[in-house]
Amino acid sequence: MSIPRLSELSARLGADLDGVRERYRAERERRVRTDTSTRYRRAEGEWGYYAADPYVESGFTREPLTDRVDAVVVGGGFGGLLAGARLRQAGLERIRIVEKAGDFGGTWYWNRYPGIHCDIESYVYLPLLEEVGYMPRWKYAPGEEIRQHAMAIGRTFDLYTDALFQTGVRELRWDDGEWIVRTDRDDEVRATYVVVSNGTLDHAKLPRIPGIEDFAGHTFHTSRWDYGYTGGDPGGGLAGLADKRVAVIGTGATGIQVVPAVARDAEHLYVFQRTPSTVDVRDNRPTDPEWAASLGPGWHTRRRENFQAVVTGHATDEDLVADAWTASGQVLGKIISTDAHDDVDPDEWEQIEEFLDLEKMAEIRARVDRVVDDPATAELLKPWYRYACKRPTFSDEYLQAFNRPNVTLVDTADHGGVERMTERAIVVGGAEYPVDCVIFATGFEVGMSDVMTGRLPVYGRDGTNLLQSWAVAGPRTLHGFTSNGFPNLFHLGSLQNAPSVNFTHVLDEQAIHVAEMIAEARRRGVKSIEPTVEAETSWAETIGRTSPDREWFDAECTPGYYNNEGRPRGPRQTYGPGPGPFQRLLREWRSGDGIEEVLRGG
Ligand code: NAP
Repeated sequence: MSIPRLSELSARLGADLDGVRERYRAERERRVRTDTSTRYRRAEGEWGYYAADPYVESGFTREPLTDRVDAVVVGGGFGGLLAGARLRQAGLERIRIVEKAGDFGGTWYWNRYPGIHCDIESYVYLPLLEEVGYMPRWKYAPGEEIRQHAMAIGRTFDLYTDALFQTGVRELRWDDGEWIVRTDRDDEVRATYVVVSNGTLDHAKLPRIPGIEDFAGHTFHTSRWDYGYTGGDPGGGLAGLADKRVAVIGTGATGIQVVPAVARDAEHLYVFQRTPSTVDVRDNRPTDPEWAASLGPGWHTRRRENFQAVVTGHATDEDLVADAWTASGQVLGKIISTDAHDDVDPDEWEQIEEFLDLEKMAEIRARVDRVVDDPATAELLKPWYRYACKRPTFSDEYLQAFNRPNVTLVDTADHGGVERMTERAIVVGGAEYPVDCVIFATGFEVGMSDVMTGRLPVYGRDGTNLLQSWAVAGPRTLHGFTSNGFPNLFHLGSLQNAPSVNFTHVLDEQAIHVAEMIAEARRRGVKSIEPTVEAETSWAETIGRTSPDREWFDAECTPGYYNNEGRPRGPRQTYGPGPGPFQRLLREWRSGDGIEEVLRGG
């Protein structure tokens, strides 16, 4: 994919750049919130029922466990499962995944709302397809199929035997050459290695809408769908809503999938929107059996590497996935770091990118006009910001839902969101919308693992508290995985690392890296894996030097979790060249002298 020339672009678009920029600014101003710190509350404490597990019977008890294993993995989502699988391949015998849910699956365990699908192609999103021997049935898999695949990974790699479900890890403490893992069920498990992968989309957010506690109807968060109330299942058929007036608050990636399903079955659906999402083409289709049969060994790795290369704007001769994500590769640079355009003058690239963005957004808005019958509703559904300001979404049913007579769009942008709730209604701009049920599609606390929020305290050598030791100079790791003073402890996630939109791919590369470090240590009879202070310092410098400066871009975006709700957040702490170069760097580090440093101990 070649980069268009600036002159060609400006001729092609003939766009009123200043006018569009002004419109973006104005739309942002409408949404800027001055009281952001108080806008959300966590689903805990007196709001804890919003986070209760609807998929297990309450009252589960068991005896506390005191034993010793090779590795404890904190979290049973795809990160934890991949860590478990790769550690198993590395020869570890006792691997204990500790998970607070009732089974494996992570986000796919919790999120079972009607319409749920993964919006990344299933053939690149679902990990370990060749190892498990599974071919997804659709290009974009429904959530239940993904959850079943997570469980299949658990079975294939024998991760159920030692797993602890409905159990939260409360503390990690280094003691006499091993970790003591304490849980909320009073377990005390000793482990040689600990891998922390407890997710970043874990804690549901509820908006602090005045009067929310006065509402006497039914409410729940999308990540704890109440099928007892709505009837049906993730495939739809919500018969319980046939005589109900339902409100969905939130139009992010979740709201976009929920709305068509609720629209089909509710007596009336009110969609409360603060910022419209970009809704691109989905084009889901069943897997072609002939194509599936034609794939040779290694196809999965090749495909996901190709996807990663294309969405990071790296020119490649082929685009295997060929979907709306890959078509937007050139304008995703503000979401996924990349060095793909390092050979173009940076100022020129900014202009090219802005033009391409403009073109993309014009296409997204034109689609709204084509699909939505009522011009006033269409106007409200058009997004006016740069493409990478918000998580892109994809649907061939969402915009169409607004053509139904039982669906009303309520725009809340001028009021900072839903203004107020009363015993029976939602209030926006002085107008009351009486409803029986309110569904919060209001998202999650994003980007913060339990270690980073302090929910999971970690004490290393000499009882040093990990978070406190990072309080002054910021996080200190080697490649995001290991820290001096915390031997044999490994973090999976985005910190000082290189994230991408296909997060299971990122997690798998991380799991492979951790497993190979451990395998090498075992081969050499080395007990402790720990970086030197010098190695940490050098990595912090690399991150500081390469981490992208997106403050100016974020400052011009509409508020949302991508730009920390419009507040400055400091450097991003990611590896600037992007996921592909980062994965190459790790491979070279493992096969070269680098690994010697962590195996010598700190
Ligand atoms: P989200 O992107 O954070 O969206 C929350 C929505 O709630 C936004 O539309 C927000 O409006 C709205 N909102 C919050 N408070 C409000 C208020 N007081 N009044 C009115 N509206 C309010 O959450 P999400 O949709 O659950 O998605 C979270 C993440 O999960 C995604 O970005 C994605 O990473 C992941 N996800 C992935 C898939 C997939 O297929 N791979 C599917 C679903 C979710 P503003 O935009 O104005 O803040």
